[in-house]
Amino acid sequence: MATTAPSQAALPPQFQRLAVLGVGLLGGSFALAAKRAALAREVVGYSKSPSTIQAAIAAGVIDHGAESALQAATGADLVVLAVPVAAIGPLLRQIRHGLGSSALVVDVGSTKADVAEAAQEALGSAALQFVPCHPIAGSERSGVQHARTTLFDGRRVVITPLQANPARFVDAATQVWEALGGVVSVMDPAEHDAAFAAVSHLPHLLAFAYVYSVARQPRGPSFLQLAGPGFRDFTRIAGSDPTMWRDVFQANSDQVLQQLQWFKQAVAGFEAQLRQGNWSVLESLIRQASQSRQDWASPTPADDAT
Ligand code: NAP
Repeated sequence: MATTAPSQAALPPQFQRLAVLGVGLLGGSFALAAKRAALAREVVGYSKSPSTIQAAIAAGVIDHGAESALQAATGADLVVLAVPVAAIGPLLRQIRHGLGSSALVVDVGSTKADVAEAAQEALGSAALQFVPCHPIAGSERSGVQHARTTLFDGRRVVITPLQANPARFVDAATQVWEALGGVVSVMDPAEHDAAFAAVSHLPHLLAFAYVYSVARQPRGPSFLQLAGPGFRDFTRIAGSDPTMWRDVFQANSDQVLQQLQWFKQAVAGFEAQLRQGNWSVLESLIRQASQSRQDWASPTPADDAT
């Protein structure tokens, strides 16, 4: 993974019209950060629910709404797709014929190999304008009401360029993210998906499964009443959006299954020590895990997920 040096440009790039497709947590935060950076003269939004568009206008997140993705993207010179990953391909197909040849299109999806493939299928020769991106910023809270101007400040943004992307589009995407406060790294999409299966997708799967297992026990509800900070910290991400996470698991199932094997092997090891009463071996396993966790320098403050 290569971290790009901050671009030399003293001024952020300027766009006439930013189209935000999917005005939720990520899309709304993109719009707010773009406004702070004066990145575009106008910000138009399109989202599946008209009520979301109304809420985004009322909160000053977007300047106005569009009735379709195509309408929003037509005439835009910067388009961001901030929808669940399975919706990215269909949306690109819808906007293809409205895209100007110099418009830059980016996404914020949590998986990248599937998005790259979907973009190539949906856009054909126009795929060269689409630069796949994943900001490592967000939270378990979804919806435009949680959008924040500062969401991307100091956060890593992984760009996984398509082979078809000319350098000018990758450079422009880099400058956009830097203007929004991000720190850009460039990665191969498969490498991205393998890494994020380990450090994001599997932990989400485990958090969902763990809460499911406790809540479904006959005495689960009364146990939950007693839960404290450890439970809260371990399960915060289990409150994340189901559609978004179904899409992530579907898109990256091979890598998540591979990580699940590593995890099952580790759990089996811990379980064996418990069963056999090998307390010193159990302590040694805990010690190794505890040290790895202490050695890990978090790049994100405690209130942020992914
Ligand atoms: P979110 O808050 O739920 O926002 C998604 C928005 O997209 C919602 O407003 C939603 O609908 C709209 N939408 C869904 N399908 C659509 C479609 N077909 N056409 C138009 N709009 C559609 O979710 P989010 O957390 O911002 O996630 C968005 C993307 O960011 C996902 O791809 C996710 O993988 C990625 N991501 C998330 C995080 C995170 O921590 N949350 C971090 C990094 C990347 P309504 O109009 O009905 O409201």
